[in-house]
Amino acid sequence: MRQNLHTHTTFCDGKNTAEEMVLAALEQGLDSLGFSGHSPLEGECWAMEEAAVGRYRREVLALREKYAGKMEVFLGLEQDILSPLPEEPWDYLIGSVHMLEREGERFSVDESAETFRRGVERWFGGDPLAFAEAYYRQVGAVAEKTGCQIVGHVDLVCKFNEGNCLFDTGHPRYRAAVTEALERLAGSGAILEINTGAMSRGYRTAPYPEAWTLKRANELGLPICITSDAHSTGHLTYAFDQAAHLAQSCGYQESMYLTRAGFVPGPLVP
Ligand SMILES: [Zn+2]
Ligand SMILES: [Zn+2]
Repeated sequence: MRQNLHTHTTFCDGKNTAEEMVLAALEQGLDSLGFSGHSPLEGECWAMEEAAVGRYRREVLALREKYAGKMEVFLGLEQDILSPLPEEPWDYLIGSVHMLEREGERFSVDESAETFRRGVERWFGGDPLAFAEAYYRQVGAVAEKTGCQIVGHVDLVCKFNEGNCLFDTGHPRYRAAVTEALERLAGSGAILEINTGAMSRGYRTAPYPEAWTLKRANELGLPICITSDAHSTGHLTYAFDQAAHLAQSCGYQESMYLTRAGFVPGPLVP
């Protein structure tokens, strides 16, 4: 089974239409594709407009019909923890933390290194580990709050931190924060994604999450799936081999796949 459940289209901040993504997925040998448009979040241009959600649902469901027998299409949503909970039924949700909130003000976790530094100064007294701790408190709650089946890019706070240039991911405070979040997620039965999106867009040379975090997740019994957080047709299976290799090196032997009957385990490398 070759599948990607984390994809974006022109309904939010993706570059291609949903049908272009289906056609590219067919060409690239996928047999199933899940759409995970960003849940509406007022004032954020990367999220879907509230008014677009109905059209998004209709279009994805129409593609499911049109390509039946060739491509299994799933209707999903990347549910931000700060978005209102969706009322409609979805095949699956990816629960993600993209922003933190303080005193009614939202600030981004993953916009740029500069935004991260500004957030650290303004809200955390110049202590980047305090930012990371606040981030992981939210991540730990994401499955309970959103009801998601998949947790999106669990260490997104490391997006601009390669080489530990912003904070030390080996620090006991960092590792305690990660562990606490993973323990809570393990209790909720959520699946972690290994996400190559930041690699495809040139921000990182390795997938999310970092090896230490993934090993810890494996020890805690958290299952995984492999996605590319694709925002264009060219990135639908970006670095999937590297993601599978990372999973293997962290002790994983299988990956989870969504079927009409729910999530089932399958091979790491299909
Ligand atoms: Zn995301
Ligand atoms: Zn995404």
